[in-house]
Amino acid sequence: MKKPNPVSTVLSVAAGKFTRFVLRKTGRGGTAIPGIVSMKVCKSILAAVSDGMKIIVVTGTNGKTTSCNMIEHALTEAGCDCLRDKAGANMLHGIASDLVCNASWNGKPRHPYAVIECDEAALKLVAPQINPAAIVVTNLFSDQVDRYGGVQNTLKEIRTGVEKSPKSTLILNAEDPLSASLSLNVPNKVIWYGMEESVGVRGDVDLSDAGVCPVCGSEYTYDYHIYAQLGGFCCPKCGYKRQKPYVSVTSIDRIASDGSTVQMKVGGKERTVRIALPAVYNVYNAAGTIAAARAVGIPVQKAIDSLGTVHSAFGRLETFDLDGTRLQMILVKNPAGCNQAFSYLTSLEEDFTAVLCLNNRTGDGHDISWINDTDYEKLCADPHLKKIYVAGECAKELSERLTKAGAGDDLQEILTDYKVLVARLKEEKRTVFALPNYTSMMELRSALNAETGNKEFWE
Ligand SMILES: [Zn+2]
Repeated sequence: MKKPNPVSTVLSVAAGKFTRFVLRKTGRGGTAIPGIVSMKVCKSILAAVSDGMKIIVVTGTNGKTTSCNMIEHALTEAGCDCLRDKAGANMLHGIASDLVCNASWNGKPRHPYAVIECDEAALKLVAPQINPAAIVVTNLFSDQVDRYGGVQNTLKEIRTGVEKSPKSTLILNAEDPLSASLSLNVPNKVIWYGMEESVGVRGDVDLSDAGVCPVCGSEYTYDYHIYAQLGGFCCPKCGYKRQKPYVSVTSIDRIASDGSTVQMKVGGKERTVRIALPAVYNVYNAAGTIAAARAVGIPVQKAIDSLGTVHSAFGRLETFDLDGTRLQMILVKNPAGCNQAFSYLTSLEEDFTAVLCLNNRTGDGHDISWINDTDYEKLCADPHLKKIYVAGECAKELSERLTKAGAGDDLQEILTDYKVLVARLKEEKRTVFALPNYTSMMELRSALNAETGNKEFWE
């Protein structure tokens, strides 16, 4: 995209910065508004404020925020000056807010690197303006069905964004047939990451999202499965299949609540990798991080070292201390993510309380029917699960689902007042796992923050 002229650049940046200043003075964290104002003044301001930056864009349905966090940490640890002050959401105007407010007054970027989380549908608007060095696609699972009309549509949205960014290196999950198909018929360089059959992960297989071979329309066969539609897929008719990854996990030696140790082959070389975040899906995020870091020239070993010291992102296995009661928060928004969270919980050998919160506001997707496709049976069957608190505006629906999954009245309790809930959790002195969806997470967080004295995230 053509860069705007210097006068409209300066005016647009000033308008954005001033708007953010006023918003903060009035105590609002409002995040997309400076971008809206900036782009009103100059439509192509993103092209100016990102000019010359090396930007990694992260999109996909699950794991965007954690991946961004890991990649940002890898770049920072490697000594790259990476834009960190981000309050914007992951849509066009939120991203514009962040880039504009972090540019100098004449619209020059202040940081040579940035890692940007981008909504799947916003990629086609954002990418052509900021020319990403790399686009990471984490995976594609059914998500917020009423927002985009299914996972195939989401795939189309991302594809449009990729087609508008022919120079960006694609970082793709080799085992996801959906994201893998983005490499077809585009000139982009691709770096694949993935897991081999030898890791022996056997999660819940669900091929409803897998689709059919994009070349000939046949159904896939699989050599092995990881979870959901991820695995060693192959088209029996035309031979289209999983590509051999550049970053490849060959075994998982240890997986616990404080992280995992895995073996990887990176560019054919064996490496031991310690990841300071738990759960199998973070092993994928870690492999993607190494691939992304490689795409912008970070030495592989530097990226690997950074994974041992990474902290969790907002709402993603974030840990709160309630006077000695440990609460870990896992944002869940679809069956695949929720099942992964259950796999993590049930893999730990310790008693716990679960807090499940469900709202159905715009930020969550109004359709909550995904809870019917989620494996609550697995959670309820865990002997270490001692109590479930059900909260949020759809607590009743969720509670009925849990009853169906085998949670009796002695195990579950509806408690919709978050303040009361937090007080109760403190008394129990048992590890708590809270699994809220987006807007209920915001409510639970403010109750937790009120208790622990943490500040809201934009302060
Ligand atoms: Zn085929």
